[in-house]
Amino acid sequence: MVALDGPSGTGKSTVARKLADRLGAGYLDTGAMYRMVTLAALRAGTDPADADALAALAAGVELEIGSSPRQPEFRLGGADVAADIRGPEVTGAVSAVSAVPRVRELIVARQRRIIAEVVERVGGIVVEGRDIGTVVAPDAPLKVYLTASAEVRAARRNSQDTAAGRQSTVADARESVERRDRLDSSRAVSPLRAAEDAVPVDTSELSIDQVVVALCELASR
Ligand code: C5P
Repeated sequence: MVALDGPSGTGKSTVARKLADRLGAGYLDTGAMYRMVTLAALRAGTDPADADALAALAAGVELEIGSSPRQPEFRLGGADVAADIRGPEVTGAVSAVSAVPRVRELIVARQRRIIAEVVERVGGIVVEGRDIGTVVAPDAPLKVYLTASAEVRAARRNSQDTAAGRQSTVADARESVERRDRLDSSRAVSPLRAAEDAVPVDTSELSIDQVVVALCELASR
């Protein structure tokens, strides 16, 4: 198992999927699970400041997440929500939802069950998120913490947004990633941080493929 953590815009998702594909492993996008709960909350009109209501919603939400790195699937109540969970409304609210301790407990328990099932079935998994090496899977044999400069992260997020047809400027993207990282790093429960035994990889000057090669090498040690 590989635990891949780090802030937004470091290339984590793309790297995680390519790495899983190369290793013949499964893949889990844990951020997508918080995004699906957030989308369900927005659709239900749940107040993002109401922790009890969010916890109740997270307990009942019918979310399904695929573990194929080539074709990840995200379903809410049976419907494909892959595009909806990346939209600005969800991105703006997800840090508040993921900061609710009871929501995290439920989602982390679910993530651990998925990891165990995929490892049993496929033999390995690459899991990406913010607290994988510190909380979800502290015994993971390889932990990597990806970083990149604020400029690079903003530029990457902006090109992802424009490629997906969402209006964005580099300045907007920078404000959005910095705001989310500030919230994710300062929350009381499971804040974004590197595990002590994580290998730090600065991706600012590296292409996605260079990062994947470096991680493949780490995984084969
Ligand atoms: O990785 P992604 O940008 O999709 O994550 C969306 C949000 O989900 C993060 O900003 C963070 O608030 C939350 N998250 C988390 N723990 C994880 C993964 C994501 O709190 N393991």
